[in-house]
Parts: sequence; C-alpha cells; structure tokens
Amino acid sequence: MRNKIIIGLVALLIGIFVGFKLTEALGQQYIMNNLPIPKATLADKDAFIEPIKLENKVPTKELSYVNKKAKNIVLLIADGMSWSQLSAYRLLKGGPNARISMDKFPVSGIVLTHSEDALVTDSASSATAYSTGFKTKNRYLALDSEKNTLETLTERISQFGYVSSLIATSEVTHATPAAFASHVDLRWKTDEISSQMINSNVTTILGGGRHFFIPKEIGGKREDGKNLLDELKSSHVLLTNKKELVEFDNNFLGKVIGLFADEHLRNIEEPDNHEAEPTLSEMVSFALKRSESFVSNGCKGFFIMAEGSQVDWAGHVNNLDYLKSEMEDFDSAVEMVLEYAKINQDTLVIVTSDHETGGLLIEPVTPSEYTGNELKFSFNTGIGRGSHTGVPVPIYAYGPGSKNFTGTLDNTDVYRAMIEALDLSNKENSCVIN
Ligand SMILES: [Zn+2]
Repeated sequence: MRNKIIIGLVALLIGIFVGFKLTEALGQQYIMNNLPIPKATLADKDAFIEPIKLENKVPTKELSYVNKKAKNIVLLIADGMSWSQLSAYRLLKGGPNARISMDKFPVSGIVLTHSEDALVTDSASSATAYSTGFKTKNRYLALDSEKNTLETLTERISQFGYVSSLIATSEVTHATPAAFASHVDLRWKTDEISSQMINSNVTTILGGGRHFFIPKEIGGKREDGKNLLDELKSSHVLLTNKKELVEFDNNFLGKVIGLFADEHLRNIEEPDNHEAEPTLSEMVSFALKRSESFVSNGCKGFFIMAEGSQVDWAGHVNNLDYLKSEMEDFDSAVEMVLEYAKINQDTLVIVTSDHETGGLLIEPVTPSEYTGNELKFSFNTGIGRGSHTGVPVPIYAYGPGSKNFTGTLDNTDVYRAMIEALDLSNKENSCVIN
C-alpha cells in the first residue's frame, strides 16, 4: 500500500514536471512568434549618435625589420569590402564551411580607415594612405591636407629600379588607381588625373574610362578639349579589347594603356562592350607577364596595384547579386596571384580594402530562430543608395615582409609595411625607357 502511494506520488511529480516543461516550451514559442516587429524604416532603426574626437595624431605602428626582402609586391584592393562582404561571398559560394581564396592566406590583420578630416573615409583619402603613407582629406589624391604634393609609392620605388602597373575594373581615373599616379585636390578632376597618369612612370595602366581621354566634342567626357588618345600614341601602345590584351607581345618594353570600356567595365547597359572586356584576373595576369619581361631586362622588381572597384558600387546600390559577382571576379584574381607567389617566393601579396560600403548585415531570417538554412542579407546604410561606413577592413598577406600585416594597422601603416618589405638601399635610374 505504502509503495503504491510512493509510486503514485513520483508519477504525479514527473507528470507535473513534463507538463510544465511542455507548457513552458509552447509558451515560449508562442511569445517569440508573436513578438511585435516594429514597422520602421532604416532611418528609424536603433541608432546612437555620439560625438567622436578626431584630433589625435595617428600612432605609428612599430614594424619588424624585414630581413629577406620582397622583389615584387602585388597589392589587391577590393573597394568597399569588409568582413561582411567577404563572409557573404563565402556563404553564397558554398556555405560557412566553404573557403574562398582570401581564407588561404597565412597572415591577416585589421586596417583602420578614417581619413584626416572624416571619421568615414572616401576612396581618395584611403587610397592616398596606401599610396603615400599619409592621411589626407577626403577627395584629395596624393596631396596632403595643405595641398602639398606627396610622393607616391610608384614614384618612390621607380628611383630604386622597380616597374609599376595599375589596374581597375572602374575607369582608370577612379580614385584608387589615380592616387598611385596623380596629385589632384579633387578626385572628380578626371581631365587632370588622366593627363597626369599618362605622364607618370607607371608602365601598364588597365581598366575602363576611354571617355575620360577624349573631348566632349567627339563624344567623350573631357572638358579641356584635349584628345589624349591621340597624344598618348607617341608614348603608349593603346589596347582597346580583350583580344588585343591576350595576344599582346609581352616582350614589348614600352608603356601600355588598356582602356576596355567607355566608362567602367561590365556596364550592364552595354552588353556588347562587355564581350570585349577582360576580367580582373586577365588584366593582372597580363601585368605579371609584362612585369617579368621588365625584370629580365634590368628592372629590380615590380609593383602591381589591382582593384576590384565595383564591390563598392554593389554596396552603394544595395545589390547582393552584383556584390557576389564582383567578389567572385576579385577573389579569382586573388587566387591567381597567390598561386603565382607560391611559385615565386620573392613576391609579397597583400589583399585589403579601403573601407566598407553599404553596412552589410548577415542575420537570421527571423530574430527568434537561429536554426534553418536561410540567412537574411541586408544593407543598412541608405536605402537603395548606401554609403561608406567607419568599420575597419581586413588585410591578408603572403610572402616576404608579410609579418608586418598582422594586428591592427592604420591605413598609412600599410604603405610603411610595403616600403619595409622592399630593398630600397640603392638608388638607381628608372629601369623604364621613356
Ligand atoms: Zn572606396
């Protein structure tokens, strides 16, 4: 009798416990599923506007001495890419366990991107930090904030026997390539930028932007009436399509400019033009081969800056498909250069960005449910017209001197770490015949 009472009591307790747990679980699910979701626009989101000081001097990162110097540097910049962009690309490509080319680098770090006069940088100021080692105002290219000329990396290393190439999927006059070969107080002064770029010591310039070399009167965009395409015939070989690029004699040691579109490459409104345009990989591969020819003919080494320019534009227009295809174009160029550097152990490869664009967020589809095989990707700056953000960007490095690209770097430190990686002990005449 007593046993039956005990068993009865235990059964009752278990029953109460299970019932309670079941009710609790169902109740929780009910509450979570019925949480009120505020109907708000991005402008109304939870936001905190705080004053931030921008007056301190940039602390200089202490770099390690590089004993085994790099002969060559390839700097790959995806404009507007931070961790969320490359994470989105990884996820869309093959899920969280997929690995993209940037994941294969042994060294990585963090780059702070603010400009001298702005907490959120533009591409001109950030590119100037990379090309000169100085912070400057937004919109300035290789000038300090007092408009003094800053020596660019390409100008500096040419005095030590290095040859340089600049590549972009935008117009070649766009901020990132322009900061490596022109000195202008407004990044939109494309007449000045293009003139300075063709008079620079950069031997290979590839990208779009034909319209910025011809005057308005004959269908271009130049205000100064000059026809630079005519002028550059005496100094450059002009390439206008992919076929010319692929079939070009790499032993030619003069200057080459490739302008493969009227404005940027892959303009969706001009599909015909698209057929004749090279990918970023094809342009980088061309620059590598040509640079090797220069080195076999007396140059000490080479520098190539190649930009995946439109990752930024995908962020500005809040377009995930566009982001994915631009990241793919960029990441395959990264893969190709990394493979090159594995064979050519004297080459330092650096992959980074200038700032984040769009405020890309990766979150669960419903806030209460993390499981499931879907993710929500959203751009969290302007709707349909996003802006740059102030978050840091990743940096990856492989090869001689790569150890200086770890930890937290200011964007100006990236320039310093590149210079430290090279042997700039003896001045030499430019190895390029003008
Ligand atoms: Zn940018």
